[in-house]
Amino acid sequence: MKKIAIIGGGASGLMAALFAARSGADVTIYEHNSGVGKKILASGNGRCNIINTTSSADDYAGADPHFVTYALKQLSFGYFEKFCSSIGLILEIKEDGRCYPLSNEAKSVLIALKSAVSEARVHICTDTSVRSISKKDTHFIVETNSGKSVYDKVLIATGSEAAPQLGATADGYNFAKKFGHEILPTYPSLVQLHLNSKNHHKMAGVKTTAEVTLIIDGKSKEKIQGDILFAAYGISGLAILDISQKASYALHNKQRVSIALNLLPRYDRATLANVIEKLFASVPKHDVHTALCGIIPAKITTYLLEDAAVPLSTTVSALNPKEIKKIAHLIGEWKFEVNDTHGFKHAEVSGGGVSTAQISNKTMESKLVEGLYFAGEVLDIVGKRGGYNFNFAWASGMIAGKEMAK
Ligand SMILES: Cc1cc2nc3c(=O)[nH]c(=O)nc-3n(C[C@H](O)[C@H](O)[C@H](O)COP(=O)(O)OP(=O)(O)OC[C@H]3O[C@@H](n4cnc5c(N)ncnc54)[C@H](O)[C@@H]3O)c2cc1C
Repeated sequence: MKKIAIIGGGASGLMAALFAARSGADVTIYEHNSGVGKKILASGNGRCNIINTTSSADDYAGADPHFVTYALKQLSFGYFEKFCSSIGLILEIKEDGRCYPLSNEAKSVLIALKSAVSEARVHICTDTSVRSISKKDTHFIVETNSGKSVYDKVLIATGSEAAPQLGATADGYNFAKKFGHEILPTYPSLVQLHLNSKNHHKMAGVKTTAEVTLIIDGKSKEKIQGDILFAAYGISGLAILDISQKASYALHNKQRVSIALNLLPRYDRATLANVIEKLFASVPKHDVHTALCGIIPAKITTYLLEDAAVPLSTTVSALNPKEIKKIAHLIGEWKFEVNDTHGFKHAEVSGGGVSTAQISNKTMESKLVEGLYFAGEVLDIVGKRGGYNFNFAWASGMIAGKEMAK
């Protein structure tokens, strides 16, 4: 019987443990938190966006996003749905293929996984931090705060540095490095952005829908429509999280990053100019601030007019064509420089990690060290928002678990 150690009791570690134990291996999970699956519990605002019905390499970033293709094929949505129902978990499919447990509670995902893992007789050592992993001949020695044990195979499923308050560490990268693995620089992803502007903090708390264009080194890279929320540090909201991977990666590479907000994305530029013209024509005696409050949030109007250098009290009929053009331009394309992200503490995931070039995509085994495996976010793979990060964690964990038990 193969003796397997799994370092990290998160999504990928639990999945690997289950499949390895079901294939007949003697499996031990080491988890330094007081319980396994803390990120599962915190995920999707407590609802756990567990998977997406349609996942492909296009939904991932990393040096080689195609690394995920084989794993995603093995864990197709149909297969995963059947697997979930076999452990007592029914899924509900929402918009864009996002799936949640029918209970709408992340807790039910963890309860189902934990009971499956315990049925499969996996040993779970919580409050146990792995300090080092070494290899002697064909065996691995895993050293924890409570002693040393010997294993035939080891899976590093320690996740990334994102959300350290939930137990995230960089330990997996350090273990991998000691075995000669290359670590691609890590950066926060699915994270809020810091703005370099004199006014964003004055709009803190104001939420609206906008089309956000990400601009890197002067070139438009991505356009996403959705919620934005101004904050004391900069800006958040789903549209911002969706562009954050590319923004964060560019900042990490010292590129110039900015965003342009289109505050009325339902109109093209010509229609927007007409809408504003009509609005102004209908209320010529209003001050411009009052007039614009009919189409965009009041606080945003204040600072947009400041950026347009138009006094708030200007009577609409006194606006000159240049001022009207400037206002219309800013409503459609209000630019802000991005100078940082809100950091790993607030990020959902991390880009970068263990280079996938040194890992077999068919088995998740290291190409450098026989018997050493990797799964989940510790690898240089980061997914979009929408269930894709769990998707890869489940898929890579399942493959590693099955392979390790061979
Ligand atoms: C707030 C939040 C919400 C999220 N929501 C979603 C969502 O809805 N959908 C989605 O797809 N993704 C979501 N994610 C991302 C998702 O949680 C991760 O991508 C996924 O958990 C990665 O799984 P993993 O097994 O690789 O790592 P993890 O789940 O992070 O597991 C790693 C485990 O290793 C443990 N560990 C680390 N170092 C050691 C050590 N030295 N010794 C012992 N144990 C150690 C950690 O405590 C942790 O339990 C969210 C993330 C966060 C932070």
